[in-house]
Amino acid sequence: MNDKKIPRVQLPADVRRDTLAVREGLPPSAWGENSEALFLTSSFVQPDAATAAARFANEEEAFIYSRFTNPTVTMFERRLAALEGAEACIATSSGMSAILLLGMGLLKAGDHVICSRSVFGSTIMLFGREFGKFGVETSFVSQTDPDEWRRAVRPSTKLLFAESPTNPLTEVCDIRALSAIAKQAGAWLAVDNCFCSPALQRPMEFGADLVIHSGTKYLDGQGRVIAGALCASAQLVNEKFVPVMRSAGMTLSAFNAWVVLKGLETLSIRMRAQSERALLLATWLEAQPQVERVFYPGLASHPQHELAIKQQSGSGGAVVSFIVKGYSAGGAVLARSNAFHVIDETQVCSITANLGDTKTTITHPGSTSHGRLSEEQRQAAGITQGMIRVAMGLDDIEDIKADLNRGLSTLNA
Ligand SMILES: *Cc1c(COP(=O)(O)O)cnc(C)c1O
Repeated sequence: MNDKKIPRVQLPADVRRDTLAVREGLPPSAWGENSEALFLTSSFVQPDAATAAARFANEEEAFIYSRFTNPTVTMFERRLAALEGAEACIATSSGMSAILLLGMGLLKAGDHVICSRSVFGSTIMLFGREFGKFGVETSFVSQTDPDEWRRAVRPSTKLLFAESPTNPLTEVCDIRALSAIAKQAGAWLAVDNCFCSPALQRPMEFGADLVIHSGTKYLDGQGRVIAGALCASAQLVNEKFVPVMRSAGMTLSAFNAWVVLKGLETLSIRMRAQSERALLLATWLEAQPQVERVFYPGLASHPQHELAIKQQSGSGGAVVSFIVKGYSAGGAVLARSNAFHVIDETQVCSITANLGDTKTTITHPGSTSHGRLSEEQRQAAGITQGMIRVAMGLDDIEDIKADLNRGLSTLNA
């Protein structure tokens, strides 16, 4: 929406992020509703044929058809843009379709992409396999070594794609350093901000051009819907992405937009509360004799702890991974059975690969999210069979410690 006709919420120009999180959007309808309305309508009635023609030709801004314009979706887009400090945002049907829209909008055959090899598994498949079919080549490089990114730059490099922190190892990349490399290469930098959300990390403040979201995770925050979004300058959104959305239709439904819009209202307090609990959990895990290693950016033992604290508003986020003892003694088989034991002994945690929920979730990455990799690939990625990932929710931290201790205290390591 380029705001030629559609009015804005009336707020003082200097209101802060927490206020925008509950108020940015569209003005209420004629009925004065205080909670944002859910516009379940596929199309919008036009006053006359000439106006309809002008609106379809983009000469006049108005709601036309919900594949590319819907007031509930616009409210979500404006609110997320405000939280990310972006000029504009375009909502998509899932996090993956936000990355699909990114590629379709910015890339063509012959273009080259540089991507961290530690990003979300489906992102690796989308760049490596699907975009590859259309003649876009992707080089996968180290998450943490900017020199590898610099060395991978070619004259045809158009896009750098990063995610921070990553799943499940919580590796942090230096967004500012990657932005400098992108600028020098004349390429765009896109950052998947799923794990931190704008409550903790705003990649554009460090020079990113585009921010990707899986709204499925912390933006909704209650595990209800699949959603996604792409934040960028108004020019990129209007010129590169709106036309693709109109033709290709990876549209976020109004209902899902409404759910995530209302989720944004509590995003900041949820992220703070879940991250506080995650730090307590990580600190506790590090002190357990049955735990070999803990991966959490908020711990001083994390290799990129200082960078994470600078980039993530002083917080490690809400995802903690750890390795149970057993590998050195009994190899991958024992490590895996020990990890399964800890997971299976839980009575509170939800055994599910999702994250970003108020309910704490627990998963074994080596046999689920990263189960399709060969053991060799997993070893190279550092995802061993003894690894467990916990995405801390709003459960009482003492209940989660007790839940994990049921299995940890009865391990035969
Ligand atoms: C879940 C996830 C995605 C994909 O989002 P969907 O909404 O499931 O399509 C992308 N990136 C990261 C980091 C994720 O965790």
